[in-house]
Amino acid sequence: MTDFQITILGSNSAIFNHGRHPSAQFVQIQNQHFLIDCGEGTQERMHENKVKWFKIDYIFISHLHGDHYFGLIGLLTTFNLLKRKNKLTIFAPKELKKIIQQQLKVSNTTLNFDLKFIATQTDDKYCILDIPECTVYSFPLNHRIPTTGFLITSKTIQRKLDLEKIQQFQIDKTQYKFLIDGEDVLDVNGKKIKNSWVTQKGKPTRSYAYCSDTVYDVQIVQYIKNANLLYHEATFLHQDKVRAKETMHTTALQAAQIAKKAKVQKLILGHFSSRYYHLSELEEEAKTVFENTALAIEGNIFSV
Ligand SMILES: [Zn+2]
Repeated sequence: MTDFQITILGSNSAIFNHGRHPSAQFVQIQNQHFLIDCGEGTQERMHENKVKWFKIDYIFISHLHGDHYFGLIGLLTTFNLLKRKNKLTIFAPKELKKIIQQQLKVSNTTLNFDLKFIATQTDDKYCILDIPECTVYSFPLNHRIPTTGFLITSKTIQRKLDLEKIQQFQIDKTQYKFLIDGEDVLDVNGKKIKNSWVTQKGKPTRSYAYCSDTVYDVQIVQYIKNANLLYHEATFLHQDKVRAKETMHTTALQAAQIAKKAKVQKLILGHFSSRYYHLSELEEEAKTVFENTALAIEGNIFSV
């Protein structure tokens, strides 16, 4: 397990078909656990993939087409039945709050944990969550109803002191913070101690961008520039580009063009139309433009 990874739970568009499920992804970043989108059956998918779903404290819903949130009320009710106590925060279009409240009300359910809704906006990029492990931004996508993508950026993991090695030198403890910042320091006798002698490497910031659903739109590039990993919907093959435009979806070729323009390191294609049983054609098509492309096969884990 790495410190920042994505598990694909569902990657089919609209309906369950060919053994593929509606959209959902589980994100683990250090000790934080997120769910992005929650199509029908997401609970079951999380059980099957043995992710730590009970540790989820933040849920991000891209938009209110049913294949992206119909699993939510079931998950919330399960949390309640299992006597969850921790607060849960859901980032979603503002109408979701009313929908969930109504579902809870008519079933006479009172949650025994705090449920907080934060409404997403589709006019610009916004920082919606800032915690020690990462920062999360929402940004507008271009779909039939208000939709946002999400960008999760890990924070720099500082250098670590190598306590065994540090004992071999006479370094005053007041110097430790400079070592963590990567600087060389002086020992108590004024002798230079190189940073690399007594610390272990930290990790630079990394980012994961989630773009589902959207028509091909180069405006998105500015929000996801240089991401280490990009999930972009590729509902159709380019031969069906007219249908893609009508339904405000993207083709595999177009997703690859976005990845190339945004200079991301790796592209994952998902949100596949049920018209395709074999997905290799989508992958091959994208690779003609952007080589480092993979399919969002359910159960697969991608490290950021
Ligand atoms: Zn949609």
